[in-house]
Amino acid sequence: MSAVAPHEALFLDEIRRIARETCSPTADEVDREARFPIESVNALREVGALSALVPTAYGGGGADLETVAAACFELGRSCSATAMIFAMHQIQIACIVRHGAGTPFFDDYLTRLATNQLLVASATSEVGVGGDLRASIAAVTPDGDSLVVEKNAPTVSYGSSADDLLLTARRAPDAGSSDQVAVLVSRNEMTLEPSSGWDPLGMRGTCSPGFVVTARFPADHIVPAAFGQIAERTMVPFSHILWAHVWLGIATDAYDRARAFVRGQNEQKGSSAVPTPRLAELAAMLHGMRAEIAAATGEYVGIAQVDDSGVDAFTIGYALRINALKINASELAPRVCAAALGVCGIAGYRNDSRFSIGRHLRDALSAPLMIANDRIHASNATMLLVSKDG
Ligand SMILES: Cc1cc2nc3c(=O)[nH]c(=O)nc-3n(C[C@H](O)[C@H](O)[C@H](O)COP(=O)(O)OP(=O)(O)OC[C@H]3O[C@@H](n4cnc5c(N)ncnc54)[C@H](O)[C@@H]3O)c2cc1C
Repeated sequence: MSAVAPHEALFLDEIRRIARETCSPTADEVDREARFPIESVNALREVGALSALVPTAYGGGGADLETVAAACFELGRSCSATAMIFAMHQIQIACIVRHGAGTPFFDDYLTRLATNQLLVASATSEVGVGGDLRASIAAVTPDGDSLVVEKNAPTVSYGSSADDLLLTARRAPDAGSSDQVAVLVSRNEMTLEPSSGWDPLGMRGTCSPGFVVTARFPADHIVPAAFGQIAERTMVPFSHILWAHVWLGIATDAYDRARAFVRGQNEQKGSSAVPTPRLAELAAMLHGMRAEIAAATGEYVGIAQVDDSGVDAFTIGYALRINALKINASELAPRVCAAALGVCGIAGYRNDSRFSIGRHLRDALSAPLMIANDRIHASNATMLLVSKDG
């Protein structure tokens, strides 16, 4: 992780304390019961972490992407569900800060978010288009003085616990599928009708069932920028970078358990202790994963700065590279966990052992599905036909 400024170092100290004191002790129960990690999210609220990315002018923490990414990593080492909830929330906040700030509604919203530590969920996926971020069926439809959207969302993480929801929809009933907007609606402006349960293999504490969302809202709740711009410049890079940090956290904890297991075994053996090449292999995999994630994070920070100065820096080549980060990190995380299981053997396979890797492996297996890698490969293949720099 990169060096951080003093107040950001203090923020990360708080995150590590919450991870140690609240997330780690509850992670197994959250997973077993597939329940929302309320105590961890409340602990994050108490230190103002839900507004970490909100500029200080609005009362937020004014933290940068690298600091929030480091927090995702720390939380991922202790409770994947809390880490993923935190990451998903921060992605929505980044979109609002970067593309909504400057309008009266969103300026007021950011202040309220910082004061009340509001939790924001996301509904981009839709029944009928699956995880295709750049297509919607639902449309913003005028109804009297209000606008209405009805969206059949297959997976809305922490939908029942969130204060607000950032959803995507077509701009109007006659708009094309990719002519989308992002809309921020609060709990009292929408109904969430459950359309499925949530009893998944992993990431159980994210509590992500399907909902039919019906929202009624004023026009100023639409984020002013076209969703294509929001996706390209903020939502996709932030998602891939923050998710990757969560997965790195999960993989790192799996590695730490494997290393503790090997050391424990060798202590018992005394002078007959032997090195474990599989652990060294695992360390190398993790090192490669960490290096790619750090490089991609640094690249985004640089590109966003250039873009902010008025030069269009988000090229097709960049889109290919940030998609490659998602594909590589999401495939490496379960491989690292499986390799850690191989090192720990039955001690890792058991759920009641301190070397257990089961939860890590199940959680990491969600990574390639979270916007299916096949779908990303297919869109990369199209971009490769026209890319000049990737
Ligand atoms: C833990 C978790 C939490 C999530 N939380 C949220 C959330 O809060 N909000 C939200 O909006 N989404 C969320 N998602 C994402 C969402 O669930 C999925 O991206 C979306 O529902 C798509 O699911 P799908 O895999 O069934 O559909 P699809 O994306 O349609 O994929 C179905 C299958 O088709 C394949 N496929 C699709 N397109 C192509 C293609 N072009 N070429 C080749 N193969 C293709 C895929 O590989 C996959 O096997 C979450 C996902 C996970 C795992």
